Amino acid sequence: MRMRNWLVTGSVIAILGCGVAVTRPLPDPRLDRWGVKDMDPVIAMQTTDAACESTTLVSTGGAFPKNPQTLAIRWTGFANFELVYNGQIILLDAYFDRGSVFPPLGFTAADVKKADVMLIGHGHVDHMSDAASVGTRTGAVIVGAPVTTEKLLTQGVDPNKVRTVNGRGGEVLKFNGFTVEPILGRHGEPPPKVVAAFRQALGETTTPPTKDQLAELMAIRARGTSDKRVITEGTIAYLITLDNGFRIMYRDSGGVVTEYEQAAMDRVGGVDVALVAVSAAVINTLTVQRALEHMRAYRPDVYIPNHHDASFNTLWRATEPLFQAMKDENPKLITVSKGYREPVCFNTEYNLQRRRK
Ligand SMILES: [Zn+2]
Repeated sequence: MRMRNWLVTGSVIAILGCGVAVTRPLPDPRLDRWGVKDMDPVIAMQTTDAACESTTLVSTGGAFPKNPQTLAIRWTGFANFELVYNGQIILLDAYFDRGSVFPPLGFTAADVKKADVMLIGHGHVDHMSDAASVGTRTGAVIVGAPVTTEKLLTQGVDPNKVRTVNGRGGEVLKFNGFTVEPILGRHGEPPPKVVAAFRQALGETTTPPTKDQLAELMAIRARGTSDKRVITEGTIAYLITLDNGFRIMYRDSGGVVTEYEQAAMDRVGGVDVALVAVSAAVINTLTVQRALEHMRAYRPDVYIPNHHDASFNTLWRATEPLFQAMKDENPKLITVSKGYREPVCFNTEYNLQRRRK
């Protein structure tokens, strides 16, 4: 008798278990943090989607989310992201074939077969080395500062697909289901003394690249620029606004917040998601200071870091100290840091602009 009860209970659990699996909500990080009570229940209970669990990029053949309002974000090393929304693929930066001194990303530039828009934050090698090949193969529109697109155009890219922007205001690029506003940012300028000391320490404690690895790195380096203009007039932040009002701020270098960024943020009042580069200043007190500056300017609900991974003979930049300091100041902030290609999905119908109405 006791056994039969146990079996009955067991099958009820099994049935419930199946039901839960089928109706599991979309893994929107805001849902985890704020719970269903603060979100529109219809939106909060949107069921999950296999496309929000797969580590295959949509640009390399993975599935689009079923609901066009779902935004899937995948970080792919350094400041690279793939954003998928409304059947569109947006690539932020393009530095995929990094050489054998880097941990593998799980795909190569040649695997990227589909993209509609590519936004290049700046022209250093570790942000644009695969922009030309991926742009040519996919036919994507490529956006960048003058010093970036100058370099791109030496690499056989169709000039009709290139948009040169200066980010000093008044430039709004319209795409299918979203707009992009380029905003002049500023490249990171970590203290030379700190950088030199750590470089020396790393040189003394890690295995240097082999001759072949150095040759490989030089070939990759040739596809980026080291023009000095990158620092002051070549680093572009992008404010992406989806048609339903959901806003994303992207910046791929950890420099100071510029007057242009501040003005744009004062106008819009904040963003749903900020994808922000961690400063290269190594020392946590310095990187924290910059992250707080970014958070105060962009006022995001969700902060996702970038540019924190590294080659085997250098150090990853710590994100936890930033998260802690930001949350100490803003306890409602949600921080998300995933591994390469792991998706983060958002139901964009729920967003700051809608909530304010
Ligand atoms: Zn750079």
